[in-house]
Amino acid sequence: MKIYIQTDIEGVAGFFSFEDRDTQTLENFHHRQRMYRLLTGEVSAAVKGAKDAGADTIYVNDNHGSAYNILFEELEGGCEILHGRGGHSPEWLTELKQGWDAMVLVGMHAMGGELGAVCPHSKWEVNGGRIYMSEASMAMALAGDLGIPAVFVSGDQVITGEVKEKNPDIVTGVVKHSYGPNFCRSVLPARAQEIIREGVRKGIEGRRKIKPYVIKGPVNLNLLDAPGHIPPLEPVLKKPVKGKNITEVFEKALVKFPWAHYGKTKMDWYRYPSNLSGKKPK
Ligand SMILES: [Zn+2]
Repeated sequence: MKIYIQTDIEGVAGFFSFEDRDTQTLENFHHRQRMYRLLTGEVSAAVKGAKDAGADTIYVNDNHGSAYNILFEELEGGCEILHGRGGHSPEWLTELKQGWDAMVLVGMHAMGGELGAVCPHSKWEVNGGRIYMSEASMAMALAGDLGIPAVFVSGDQVITGEVKEKNPDIVTGVVKHSYGPNFCRSVLPARAQEIIREGVRKGIEGRRKIKPYVIKGPVNLNLLDAPGHIPPLEPVLKKPVKGKNITEVFEKALVKFPWAHYGKTKMDWYRYPSNLSGKKPK
């Protein structure tokens, strides 16, 4: 049985503020290592839950920021990990294909503008605002187009609530209660891990009763966000992208979003074959 675990960090218990990627102090270094450890603990719990349910192929997508957050040498065995900045390219859910049995979502955060949630950002506007989606429900919809059900989601009460509203049969693991963008009440890591391990097992075991989440086409799509993710949010594209289904519009739109280019214009620009000329891309 093949299970795809999509991860992010903002929804992990104990995480309440975007990490500082620039300040070179010992305190910041240790703070970030702690956040990575909390994430790694929750992802390990998800891998254990998948194995409890009988999974024998488990891929973990390390999707937050640098796409190199999970301490994979400390991760529960029996999985393989997708990491590196290609995770922000058009292959956002790299290797997710027909034939995977279920998707699991760990550490998810609320969509942009949800000011009662920790670190809300990215708000997908579908069909002129008839549907709004978070990164979590977007992943669920892309899996849905492939016939794959999303069976579990963890994070705060806001994101789990949004996903559950779209997919009432999904199992949710609420590991913290948000009060605002930088304030929450978290359960302790051991409890978060119990909630996730148990929820993932339950979700995977019940996967045949959970419908893949599909948004009927044709659709149009834009992303609403703002510099620093601080509202008011603005459309990122001048015009929404149109297509026959969510997968098509997402692929067309993704390359145009600022976060599709993280790393490519800084650290990794010289590694990309198109940049072997040695010229830094504009
Ligand atoms: Zn993130």
